[in-house]
Amino acid sequence: MHIIDGEKIATTIKENLKTEIENLKIKPGLAIILANNNPASAIYVKNKEKACEKIGIACNIYSFNEDSKEQDIASLIKDLNANPAIDGIILQSPTFPHLNENYLVSLIAPSKDVDGFSPLNIGYLASNTENFIAATPLGILKLLEYEHISLTGKHIVIIGRSKIVGRPLALALLNRDATVTICHSKTTNLKALTKTADILIVAIGKPEFITADYLKKDAVVIDVGINRINNKVIGDIDFASCSKVASAITPVPKGVGPMTIAMLLSNCVKSAKRRNNNG
Ligand code: NAD
Repeated sequence: MHIIDGEKIATTIKENLKTEIENLKIKPGLAIILANNNPASAIYVKNKEKACEKIGIACNIYSFNEDSKEQDIASLIKDLNANPAIDGIILQSPTFPHLNENYLVSLIAPSKDVDGFSPLNIGYLASNTENFIAATPLGILKLLEYEHISLTGKHIVIIGRSKIVGRPLALALLNRDATVTICHSKTTNLKALTKTADILIVAIGKPEFITADYLKKDAVVIDVGINRINNKVIGDIDFASCSKVASAITPVPKGVGPMTIAMLLSNCVKSAKRRNNNG
């Protein structure tokens, strides 16, 4: 059984991105809009800012409070869309409840939507003309690519249908010739389906939910879950039992998590390279 070292792969990717940035004529710019007062979001945003600084991306954070008007954020997005120094714009989710998050995301120019959440980029993904793919699904694709795990014709079962993980991942895997099954909370025969998976990807947010009896022998198992229990982070997969049946498995932490931030940076660099080559 092989443990897939997401942290090591993410470090290699970030080093490569730093070199790519050094070779650009321009400095990439990322704008992060924070419109909530959730402490977890503040930490995520800080981590993104630090990761940007480390590799040479200028990161600007725009914070709003409970009294902020949707129109003010909409105006900011329009200004950022027109600002040539900005290559990527992200709206940290969730936003304050009085804001229409989907509407605000839809205002982000698809060419700067490095989170890949805008309706047009989802449409591109669905029609197999990919532009930006969301960071977590893209991170999973990269992990599988680095590990030389082929996708063509494989039966890949994804548990979880969220718009940030399961749905875009299913589309991206279809684009790569996998046979994809998406399971969710209303799926009735979960174990029967997971037991036929060559690759099982779990993103449900339920600690150690998937045990060895859900797996086909020698399956590749990707754990997206992040569950904080007693100051420890654990995944959706019971690593102890599943690692005895799987051929390869991602740990939590140090599996999918570090890849997510690396892929956000990668999308920013992709956008900056387009500007660099047009300038
Ligand atoms: P979500 O709450 O939006 O969606 C959860 C999904 O799991 C739903 O589609 C639901 O139908 C399904 N589900 C729940 N219970 C189930 C069950 N018993 N059987 C089958 N399906 C079930 O979650 P999300 O935002 O997609 O996140 C899922 C997990 O992944 C969370 O732990 C989250 O913290 C983690 N996550 C990690 C990263 C990362 O970078 N590693 C990124 C995003 C999310």
